[in-house]
This record gives sequence, structure tokens and C-alpha cells, in this order.
Amino acid sequence: MGGSDAEEVTAEVCRLYGAKGEKAVLAAKNGRVIQYRDFCVVIGTTDTYVVDEDFCTCGDFTYRGLQCWHILAFRTAKALGTIALRDEWYQDLI
Ligand SMILES: [Zn+2]
Repeated sequence: MGGSDAEEVTAEVCRLYGAKGEKAVLAAKNGRVIQYRDFCVVIGTTDTYVVDEDFCTCGDFTYRGLQCWHILAFRTAKALGTIALRDEWYQDLI
């Protein structure tokens, strides 16, 4: 994916989601979205969460049904091609 596409994705996420989007973009760009063999995780400010296209293990999503920034970070990292790949099983680390 070229640089301009990445810029476009970033701008779009920030425009649509404001501060939440910026947080997501930052995490996506800083390699805090990690794909293990079994799960994909986002390293948040206080914890690490297992995420998917429309699923997250954090409290906002699980209890309050909100679309949290972790899911956004996952989608953004996917679009930007910045998902860090780890040849490990996440299950073994927790
Ligand atoms: Zn979440």
C-alpha cells in the first residue's frame, strides 16, 4: 500500500472518530496491534485486549456495547498494513 493511501486512511479515521480515531491511528502506527498465530491483540493504555473486526475483550465493548478504539486500531492497522506479526501463540503468553 502506498503512502498516500495510508494518509487517506489515517485522515478518514480521525475525521470519523475524533480523539478515539487518533488513539487508534497512533496504536496502529506504533506497532501496538499484534497478530499472533491464534489471536490478534491491541496493547492499550492499561491492558492488552484480544480484538477482531467487530469484537474486543475490553470493558467498553463487552459491558457497554461501544465500538472501542481497539477495534478501530485493528481495522486501521489492517488498512495501513502495520499489523505486527508474531510467530507465537498468544494463548501461551497469558
Ligand atoms: Zn476494546
